[in-house]
Amino acid sequence: MDILLQESQRLHSEASLQESIEDVEKIIQHLERAKQAIVADPNSASITLAKLQNPIKNGCDQITADLTKLNRAQAKYGKVLKENFPAKALPTDYDALASHPSLVNRAIAMHLLREGQFAVASIFVEEAQNSPPHPIPTPVSPHPADSDAGDFTSLKSQELQHLFSNMYYILGQLKTRNIHPAIDWARQNSAELERRGSTLEFELSKLQYIWLFQGPAMNSLPADENNGLHGALRYARANFGRFQNRFLPEIQQLATAMIYAQNLRSSPYHHTFSSSSSWSDVCTSFTREFCSLLGLSAESPLYIAATAGAVALPALLKLALIVREKRTEWTTKDELPVEIPLPSSMIFHAIFVCPVSKEQTTDNNPPMMMPCGHVVAKESLNRLSKGGKFKCPYCPNESQPKDAREIIL
Ligand SMILES: [Zn+2]
Repeated sequence: MDILLQESQRLHSEASLQESIEDVEKIIQHLERAKQAIVADPNSASITLAKLQNPIKNGCDQITADLTKLNRAQAKYGKVLKENFPAKALPTDYDALASHPSLVNRAIAMHLLREGQFAVASIFVEEAQNSPPHPIPTPVSPHPADSDAGDFTSLKSQELQHLFSNMYYILGQLKTRNIHPAIDWARQNSAELERRGSTLEFELSKLQYIWLFQGPAMNSLPADENNGLHGALRYARANFGRFQNRFLPEIQQLATAMIYAQNLRSSPYHHTFSSSSSWSDVCTSFTREFCSLLGLSAESPLYIAATAGAVALPALLKLALIVREKRTEWTTKDELPVEIPLPSSMIFHAIFVCPVSKEQTTDNNPPMMMPCGHVVAKESLNRLSKGGKFKCPYCPNESQPKDAREIIL
């Protein structure tokens, strides 16, 4: 793996197109100058063109030399990559995604849009529409093959592009410590954010207060009455009133910190005012709230799916090999015989395993809670009750199947 890292670093430092771009720019400058000279004095055309020959040839040679270096680094990296990750076919009988190429395309387009790669996204959508993919039916696909091959109308890519470019603009401003566009956005969406229990609008205003409080030495804003303690107080008076109902104790703390302004470091408010991650935290919560108002998750689903897949792959490969060697078959649908450990950030659905049948519950066999509070799977409940009154397997209570309630996880 070390050699891979080494080559990757080399690729990073050597395989830059920057030098080639600069050389191309130089050639363009030569050509522009020659054009101007000829326009100014058409009689000088032949001499100007003659003078142009050498610089252009040298420029082109330089570009070739730059690209040779780049190609060499790429070839070397490719070789090391191939040696370390030999291409092997996955030990599966069919490609589960083969019947849904347009869904995959849609996920890719969506990913590019939300990553802010608008130009790439629009080229991708255009090309995918011009040459629609061909779904290949798979034997056990639970869903019918795509019928809307290449249809991106439901994606509303123009609308999403508009929304996400606004998000990236606001994030970009936050990175340069300009919080105002984010505050304006939060104020415009104040009602919806509050309905969702979001604290974003207050967090942004609080950060602006802290930012001003820290004064010109920290925030490099002009040292006038709108900055420093004065500025912070002025800001709090103008803006904190709207948050009093929800955040009074916090506002009180922020205001009391004024007394400690001279020795904040040894005050109880030290932590609030010295958090190094407060700007990046606000960026994260802004992204999350922005996406959730659009009905989207904060992280790209394609990114999560691909990363979770990469984490799970070694276990799945091992399982496939064992199944093949032992010539056994795993027949339980929608369930794997092994645990796939994933980080908690990648687990979205709580699971319930019936304590009676030891089976994981599914949509058709959901968990059911009896009046005593114990939970078993629906099939187990039916087996236990046989339609009539029955005793809970875990306590002395008796209940009727109709009294059991389905639990939605
Ligand atoms: Zn019970």
